[in-house]
This record gives sequence, structure tokens and C-alpha cells, in this order.
Amino acid sequence: MTSEYNYDLVVVGGGPAGSSVAYEAAKKGIKVALLEKEETIAHSVRTSGVTWIQNIKEFGIPDDCYNPIKKYSFCSPNNEVTISDTVPHAAVLDVRKTYRWLAKQAEDHGADIHLKTNIKDIIKNKAGDIVGVSGVNKEGEVVFHSKVVVDASGFSSTVSKSMGYVTQWERFGAGAEYEVQAENVDQETWWLMVGQKYSPAGYAWIFPVGRNIVRIGVGVGKPESTVDPTERLKELMDSKTGPIGKLGKITPIEFHYGLIPNDGLTRKTVYNNLILVGDSAGQANPLVLEGIRYAIKFGRIAGGIAADAIKSGKTDEAALYPYEENWKKDIQAKIKSAGKVQDRWIGLSDDEWDKELDIIKELKPEEFLDFIKADFGLANMLRLAVNHPKLAVRQLFNLVKNKNK
Ligand SMILES: Cc1cc2nc3c(=O)[nH]c(=O)nc-3n(C[C@H](O)[C@H](O)[C@H](O)COP(=O)(O)OP(=O)(O)OC[C@H]3O[C@@H](n4cnc5c(N)ncnc54)[C@H](O)[C@@H]3O)c2cc1C
Repeated sequence: MTSEYNYDLVVVGGGPAGSSVAYEAAKKGIKVALLEKEETIAHSVRTSGVTWIQNIKEFGIPDDCYNPIKKYSFCSPNNEVTISDTVPHAAVLDVRKTYRWLAKQAEDHGADIHLKTNIKDIIKNKAGDIVGVSGVNKEGEVVFHSKVVVDASGFSSTVSKSMGYVTQWERFGAGAEYEVQAENVDQETWWLMVGQKYSPAGYAWIFPVGRNIVRIGVGVGKPESTVDPTERLKELMDSKTGPIGKLGKITPIEFHYGLIPNDGLTRKTVYNNLILVGDSAGQANPLVLEGIRYAIKFGRIAGGIAADAIKSGKTDEAALYPYEENWKKDIQAKIKSAGKVQDRWIGLSDDEWDKELDIIKELKPEEFLDFIKADFGLANMLRLAVNHPKLAVRQLFNLVKNKNK
């Protein structure tokens, strides 16, 4: 038997994007369903969870959801740099706790969360516009009718693919990670490890979660490299390469694996009755492949705009477009600049990486953070490109500045 539901807004995917859409829309008093295929929110972890304390505070995420970071270490085959800040600006999230908090926010404001609900298809009206989704839950077939659908299904972009609006991402990052208990952990310091032995097109990392727990991972750019990140991670952990050796005895707790789009902001993100948000919209900073803060921020904006459109009775592309306008204004130029830096980094040999770290050494903590966050305010970058005391740094900032033209 098929169960049928009627909602104003249906959100497919209970990740940070979907929960944030559902929260903001439910707050505006419309009837919202959040659909998640797994048995709990964040049952599988597919992310390392690094983000920025400023964003955490803006979103109201509780303090017990993250471990603060104030020292940023980089190593290449023959070089090493640590940039030390006086106060922490970065953080490693307790991913499950944070994602569940986000979903609970939505639920507390009236959204219905349907777990174990795997969406497989879409429902269209005579005009060919989406008016619902269908799939299976623990009881059998299930259909959700709705005025607007949000595709927050992440990398898979299930809804937009079923509509025929998108195809599989061609350029993406594949990441494998072990969360481990380690003997010697400096919980205020993260490590990024670059060069061929760590990852031929990407980087490896150590991110401390707190309480002697760290996430050790490897990310590999596809299709640039054929290396399997899981195999490379095991090799690095077995051989205790670089800073992994300093961790002492390592006891794995759990394994994480995920894919993140890296095709830039190439997708259209609004259609009649449909919005794409988070990874399904490709909203990620390509420099370190981070997208959680964008998923939450633009999820909330999408939820608010969808709710207003539903209340006004007009949910076509034009009514939903302010969402696309909003995120484009905020991040389009920055992500383009970050793409330019990423292109440079992907092409570096080991020797060149050793030299790149000499440039990074010259950055002040705030310059380094703006850079790695892809927070390239044009005025700021122009100033640094012209006035930075070091020529090599000026050249690095010039790269960003030129892209913004
Ligand atoms: C290895 C790796 C490390 C990363 N590290 C970082 C980091 O340190 N910091 C950072 O900011 N970002 C990081 N990212 C990126 C970050 O994880 C994503 O940008 C972010 O999770 C996007 O959120 P989302 O809600 O759009 O998608 P997701 O988090 O992928 O959530 C999508 C949800 O939809 C559900 N779903 C999918 N299909 C269906 C369906 N058909 N029916 C019902 N439910 C469905 C999934 O189960 C999932 O819960 C990393 C990514 C990877 C792969």
C-alpha cells in the first residue's frame, strides 16, 4: 500500500543544508517535511567537520558541538610551517551532535522529520513542473505532494537528476578518513599535509576533535588522480608518515567516506517549484573542499524564500530566484578566485610545494585564514597584492585579484 502526504514544502536530505531549510521554513509557519533516507540524522558521517567559529556563533550552534583550533600547521615533503593565532578562529565539529542539533531546531519549530525515507523519483504536473516526490520508507511506497521541493540530497542530487536538470558532477573530491584515538594529541593544532606522497591531487589532514580523538584523512581530486583515498590513507597510517608519526599509538574508532562536488558554481539552482542547496548546488569552497557553512547559511535563505513564495501563492522560478541572487552575490566571485588558487595548487610538484610553504610562512594568521576560507574581499586583496612586504605573497594575492576582474 502507498502512503500519501501533503505538505507545503518537502526537503529531500537531512544534512546541514536540508535541516537548515526546514528550520527556517517551519519558523515561518508553513507545513514542512524533512526526508532522510538513513535511520537517524548523521548516521553516516561523510565530512571532516572543519568550519569557522564566527559562522558557528552566527548560526547559534552550541559550544559543546566543536573543538576550537588556533594553530594551523602545513607540511610538504621537505618543509613545515605553523601559523599560530592568539585566539581560535577555526573549529572541528562533532559532526553528529551538530547535524542532529540542526535537525532538532527544525523539528522544534514544527517540521516533520521522516527517517528511513529513500526518495527515488519525482512527481510532475501537466506543465512538467515538480509537485512532489516518491520513494520507499519502512512501510513501503510513499508519496509526498508539495508546493515546493528542495533538493538537499548532497552529492547525489537525486531530485534534480530525476527532473533531468543535472547530470553527475564531473570534477569532485573523494575523501577517506579514520576517526581515531591517539596517544599524543595537540588538540589546538590542525595539520594539512601536501605533496605527492600524501595526495597527488589534494591533501591529507589531521583534525583534532578533542579528548585525544583526531580525524586522519586523505582527499583526492577526481578525475585529476586515480589514487584511491582509502588505500592511500591506510598506507600513510601504516607507515606513520610525517605528523601522523607524532600521534603515537593509534586506535581506529570509525571510518568515514564521502564525495564533494568541485565543478564550481555551474548549476542553475532554481526552477519552477524547485530549489537546489548545499552540495546539490555545488556550494563548496574548492580550496579545502569545505561546504558546511554554505549549506547552513544558504539553506536558511532558501527556506525563508521558499516559505514566503508558498505563502504568496507564487512558487515559479521568478518567485524563487532571490535565493539564487543572494548566494551568487555572496560567494560567486570568491569561489572563482579560490578555483584559480586551487588550479595552481593541484599543479605543484613536491619541490614547488616546499617553496609554496615558504610563501605561506609569510602570512599573518588573519591573512592565512582569509585565504584558506576563500574570503577574498576585493579591497583587501588589492591592498595586499600591492602593499604586502613580501614579493612572493604579492604574487599569490595578485592571482586572486586578477580572477575577480
Ligand atoms: C571527505 C570529505 C571531507 C569534508 N570535510 C569538510 C570540512 O572539513 N568542512 C566543511 O565545511 N565541509 C567539508 N566537506 C563538505 C561537506 O561535507 C559538504 O559540503 C556538506 O555536507 C554539504 O551538506 P549537504 O546538506 O548539502 O549534503 P550532505 O551532508 O551530503 O547531506 C545530504 C543528506 O541527504 C540524504 N539523502 C541523499 N539522497 C537521499 C534520498 N534519495 N532520499 C532521502 N535522503 C537522501 C543523505 O543521507 C544525507 O543525509 C567534506 C566532504 C567530504 C566528502
